[in-house]
Amino acid sequence: MKKRPVIIIGGGPAGSATALHLLRSGVQPLIIERESFPRFHIGESLSGECGADLRTLDLEDELLRQKYPIKHGVKVFNPHGSHFWVEVKKRCPETNALIPTWTWSVVRSSFDRILLDTARNRGVEYMECEAVAPIKEDDRITGVRIQTATGALENLHCDILVDCSGQATFLANRGITGKKIKGSYVNQVAVFSQLTDMILDPGSDTDTSLAPGNSLIFYKQKDHWAWMIPLSDTVTSIGVVAPAPYFKAQKLDKAEFLRNEILSLNPDLARRVTNTSFVEEVRTISSYSYTVSDYTGKGFVCVGDAHHFTDPIFSFGVFLSMKEGEFATESILKHLSEEGAANANPFAPYEALATQGQDAVRDLIDCFWEYPLVFTRMAIGKAQDDITDLFAGRLYGEAVEKNASRVAMRRLMQARRAGK
Ligand SMILES: Cc1cc2nc3c(=O)[nH]c(=O)nc-3n(C[C@H](O)[C@H](O)[C@H](O)COP(=O)(O)OP(=O)(O)OC[C@H]3O[C@@H](n4cnc5c(N)ncnc54)[C@H](O)[C@@H]3O)c2cc1C
Repeated sequence: MKKRPVIIIGGGPAGSATALHLLRSGVQPLIIERESFPRFHIGESLSGECGADLRTLDLEDELLRQKYPIKHGVKVFNPHGSHFWVEVKKRCPETNALIPTWTWSVVRSSFDRILLDTARNRGVEYMECEAVAPIKEDDRITGVRIQTATGALENLHCDILVDCSGQATFLANRGITGKKIKGSYVNQVAVFSQLTDMILDPGSDTDTSLAPGNSLIFYKQKDHWAWMIPLSDTVTSIGVVAPAPYFKAQKLDKAEFLRNEILSLNPDLARRVTNTSFVEEVRTISSYSYTVSDYTGKGFVCVGDAHHFTDPIFSFGVFLSMKEGEFATESILKHLSEEGAANANPFAPYEALATQGQDAVRDLIDCFWEYPLVFTRMAIGKAQDDITDLFAGRLYGEAVEKNASRVAMRRLMQARRAGK
């Protein structure tokens, strides 16, 4: 029986990014994906560092060919008619100065297919089939059982199984990881679709905050907000996130709910709506907020949503998944080497980094909802550069440890969670 070095479950951003990074290091993984691409996926607005990572993977030309909207930043509108603006900026490697740059908003069906096709064209092995059970021998994972389109079951063996199954949380649901614990935003519901001809910002040669491709967030009150993410000159992704009891109490079908909300949630959103004829199916997602403990172990590692998702408000999901793919690759290479084979837990550095990033996102979002006015003052005042760094996705290592606002948020949120 052929044994592969690495099998990846899931061909979303986490799976494709992990595969692309492994290939760059000379390891040929197998991706197994149960859906035929292109397939719909929510999550269209990318962070600044996500754009940078896509350039590192030599994907910029292809993304430009797609004519995805250029995102220069995000505007967050409060219910009282004002907003704050966070521009996408990178750090200059020589001077560390902040320099304006840009990223993309993407149509996930085509974006995910581009990532997966690129991985396949560059040499990744691919099978369209469903992972149905991990294979465990003694105390380690040694492969995965798959079911093919014809219904046949087959055992595939590998040195390392990478779980990139997203919200399906393949290994967590089968008791291989530690527990899957509900996240802070587990009682939220997201209802979303797409509209045409929304009123976008007009564009300006001198002011990037007026660029039509920027992401817009509108909130009404804690945990009740909406997004507007342009997907082309005419089509915009629109979504509302609300507490589940509120959604149920409206007693409306999801399209009616979404229609009512976009006209009533925030005046700055309502004035941008020119019609309410949705051009994409209206979908809902709930229970999307969770964290999985002990998400690496003997022969396995979880990447992206397969082990953690907090909340979509500041658009970190795709970035975290892709960045973790890069970090996981370093640990996988170590594991495959002789040095790594002798190491009790070669994935410990990966787990520490991934957790650091996920914690920073959680504290940022919690802090925004608990102290919106303080947060707004930080975003437009002396802490602006810190907030710019966090929104871009500089969430790891020294970059985040030396971010004074992130340190203050951590302290504040830890005290609050401990009830102090
Ligand atoms: C309402 C909402 C809005 C969001 N908005 C944004 C946003 O604006 N920006 C952003 O960056 N992120 C956003 N996100 C988050 C983002 O969509 C995810 O974080 C991201 O898609 C995670 O990538 P992934 O590769 O880990 O998982 P996925 O993209 O979900 O990919 C997982 C893949 O695994 C496959 N799979 C699952 N189980 C199996 C199996 N058993 N066998 C084979 N294949 C399997 C699935 O078919 C899927 O293709 C949002 C999330 C939500 C809920």
